[in-house]
Amino acid sequence: MTDSEAAENALPPVTLDTKLQNVVGGKTAVALVKAFGVETVGDLLSHYPRRYARRGELSSISLLPLDENVTIVAEIRTVEERPMKARKGSIVEVKISDGRGILSLTWFNQSWRAKQLRPGMRGMFAGKVTDYRGHLQLTHPTYRLFGPGAEDEPEMPTDAAAAKLWIEQPIAIYPATNTVASWQIAQTIELVLDSLGPVPDPIPTEVRSERGLLPHGRALELIHQPETDSDWRRARDTLRFTEAFVLQSALVQQRNEARAQKTVARVPAPGGFLDRFDAALPFTLTDDQQNVAAEIADDIAQTSPMNRLVQGEVGSGKTVVALRAMLAVADSGGQAALLAPTEVLAAQHLRSIARALGPELSVELMPTLITGQLPVAERRKALLRTVSGQAQIVIGTHALLGEKVTFFDLGLVVVDEQHRFGVDQREALRQKGALPPHVLVLTATPIPRTVAMTVFGDLDVSTIAELPEGRQGIETFVVPLFEKPAWVTRVWSRLAEELAQKRQAFVVCAAISPKQLEEGEIADPEASASASASAPADVETVLAELRRNPVLASARIEPLHGRMTSEQKDQTMRSFAAGEIDVLVATTVIEVGVDVPNASAMVVMDADRFGVSQLHQLRGRVGRGGVPGLCLLVTSAEAESLARERVEAVAATLDGFELAQVDLELRREGDVLGLNQSGGRSSLRLLRVATDGVLIGEARGYAQRLSDQDPLLESVPALREAVRRRLDDSERASLTKS
Ligand code: ADP
Ligand code: MG
Repeated sequence: MTDSEAAENALPPVTLDTKLQNVVGGKTAVALVKAFGVETVGDLLSHYPRRYARRGELSSISLLPLDENVTIVAEIRTVEERPMKARKGSIVEVKISDGRGILSLTWFNQSWRAKQLRPGMRGMFAGKVTDYRGHLQLTHPTYRLFGPGAEDEPEMPTDAAAAKLWIEQPIAIYPATNTVASWQIAQTIELVLDSLGPVPDPIPTEVRSERGLLPHGRALELIHQPETDSDWRRARDTLRFTEAFVLQSALVQQRNEARAQKTVARVPAPGGFLDRFDAALPFTLTDDQQNVAAEIADDIAQTSPMNRLVQGEVGSGKTVVALRAMLAVADSGGQAALLAPTEVLAAQHLRSIARALGPELSVELMPTLITGQLPVAERRKALLRTVSGQAQIVIGTHALLGEKVTFFDLGLVVVDEQHRFGVDQREALRQKGALPPHVLVLTATPIPRTVAMTVFGDLDVSTIAELPEGRQGIETFVVPLFEKPAWVTRVWSRLAEELAQKRQAFVVCAAISPKQLEEGEIADPEASASASASAPADVETVLAELRRNPVLASARIEPLHGRMTSEQKDQTMRSFAAGEIDVLVATTVIEVGVDVPNASAMVVMDADRFGVSQLHQLRGRVGRGGVPGLCLLVTSAEAESLARERVEAVAATLDGFELAQVDLELRREGDVLGLNQSGGRSSLRLLRVATDGVLIGEARGYAQRLSDQDPLLESVPALREAVRRRLDDSERASLTKS
């Protein structure tokens, strides 16, 4: 053994968990942590290439995105050095090309560049693409030249076959920043791969051979340092499956853990609250409602906590089903908490629950509202009722999570419209019981199966697909002002026709006043990015216009938006529900859950400014009673623009699942669910929920089978480690708790 080998053996072997700073220089490690949040060898090795370039192929300059950091392969055309006009010193200007377009690179007072860079040389160039007076340039340019004279880069070999390989070999191009270039990442990865010990496999051997996967260590090598395209393709397939498998194993583990917890079984008492409620119910539950109700009843009768998500279209009757579960809990002496995303909705829930319970049950169960805006005396009273257990149904917003709110015996938490609700907040509420309460999440956003499996993999999912009988459906039309500007007057006469039949209507605007957008509500970057650039219609202006409009002369028209106090909003909603207001001109505060059966028409102004799911939610506000709904989506977006396509997709179908799929394809999965909170390093990497559904399903199957045979994953230590890493990670935790 030589001295250096001895020294090497004395060091602990490098594994995926080794801190990066122990393997590469501290400076490089710090730069990588700063730029990408990678801290360990494993983190760095899962910073996968974005694409692969070739020394022999120039990147297309015309396709480069502006204002982003890019790495391209290009050829130097001209190199010019000239004195600066106003000041002392010189400018080196280099033009690089892909054969068609030109990008210029500029350096001040760096004459030596003019000697190093020569026309005809090729290399990788990186920087931010900017447009300077109509000319594209790379700002903060860095580069690494290929071929003769280039440092750090293998020279082009002289024998023909090797030269061909050199030209065609895929070069990994990494997501880079202006402080860490793609080739610096590649160099660091090379260093790390060289010192990495054997990498244990997180995939059981049988599964690996069944699926024809590479060993893990080999896959890591080949995705970073492929010699051919098929190298990186095989590596990517292996790592993508690995990602799905580890994720699903983690979810299965988490679900098992949740099931191992103990809580109080909640069983309805014969002749108790639930029986009395059912006896007085003015309608029969749909088959779907009955099935879901039975699943929930079965869940909460267990001594392990329920974790169930109920999805169903707006108006499918989720709330009734949830209320029945609350009554079962009340029967067993416990309390239920209902969390709504806004104060308007919390107040509405209180009213409709009190109405559904009827006077007697209301007195006995004392449904109580706790919100942030409650007057002090009332709030104190509500808190007392909650801590004493007198209030068996407590309804509120996130104010319910305040430290001052204590429950006597919290048995069930119902979260309405989960995608509006912060993950941590829900977790806080979960911890308000002495034992973990049963949790029921309601959502009107249909969740495609693969998303449910990935993001909600630790929850059981129930679906209410059918709507109660007697629903009349909704007709949706696009009003294309771009081609037919005059149609806006027809919108208002159509609205007047609805009102003439004693029905009510919503007019939805993206903004409150000419300058003020509704807070947070329409911040849909995907939608607004491609929406018309002009200012959106706003509540104040539209309200004034409609009040002046002769066809609506007799209509009572009022505003509703987030700048009103919750008392005002509440009062307005109540009047609208009572039929004292004909038209509400509103922002998206009405998006979720507002229930006025007599409202038949909705006009959405600048519909292209809203997301697909959001439009679908909005539309769900009409056609809820016995009258048919009408939804007019007004847009100035050009025909065939992306913005217009979104609006037309919504008009084309009432199927929320189909729209969720459209949404998913247009946006990244995190955004669809409002979970895009961190974009941190452990979000999905190679896996795409929109396209990898089959793979995810298969991985789920393998994960489940393995966990059945070996619940603690003792036979696959590397998987256990990988699962631990996933579960430790806070972002992962937030994803799965949703
Ligand atoms: P969701 O919460 O799913 O949007 P709700 O539970 O608020 O739906 O129900 C919408 C309306 O339909 C409510 O007025 C409710 O009383 C009514 N409803 C619920 N289930 C039925 C049913 N099976 N038959 C008739 N009406 C129903
Ligand atoms: Mg509801």
